Amino acid sequence: MADIIYTLCGGTYINITNKCPCRCTFCIRSQGNAVGDAENLWFYGNEPSLDEIKKAVDAYGFEKIDSVCFCGYGEPTERLDVLIATANYLRTINPSIKIRINTNGLSDLINGRSTAKEIGEAFDIVSVSLNDPDSDSYDAVTRNIYPTKAFPALLEFTKECAKYCPEVHMSVVDVIGEENIEKSRKLAESLGAKFICRSFDEGR
Ligand code: SF4
Repeated sequence: MADIIYTLCGGTYINITNKCPCRCTFCIRSQGNAVGDAENLWFYGNEPSLDEIKKAVDAYGFEKIDSVCFCGYGEPTERLDVLIATANYLRTINPSIKIRINTNGLSDLINGRSTAKEIGEAFDIVSVSLNDPDSDSYDAVTRNIYPTKAFPALLEFTKECAKYCPEVHMSVVDVIGEENIEKSRKLAESLGAKFICRSFDEGR
């Protein structure tokens, strides 16, 4: 079994799925050459049950952890029920823990319904990867299975999340250039999200 809980640069992360409707050009899932620590995040089709995730949480000692992020080699909202149940379980163990999700923002398309309220209420921070400020560029870089629909869906999801979650972020990486960074900033802020521009070295 792959690692359900892992640490990276001092942060604690929870990996619940390898499924994702995107095939981002920069993602290690697309490159198929995960090595070292990254290799430990592949479930090879045997994704953990909620009971297995709870056991991993119990063994980790979250009583002493300040914050945790749901982010693995997949899109966490692919397993929405397990995701929310795990977040709620973490709060029973540590009511003051700050819980974040890194998401592609496509949960509404993945789950076939509006999901922002339940996600926004379950997390302290929802961080959505914007990648690019327009639909065509977004589809080109994410190679998602919902061309033309994905970009408007992630904007709607972000806007709705901002109604329910205390902190919503939208991120890009600086490789898109100054003009697109500024367009992305305006877009994120118009949706009620805090804009984050990461350097290429930090990743998306
Ligand atoms: S959305 Fe995230 S997990 Fe999915 S392919 Fe893109 S970078 Fe990888």
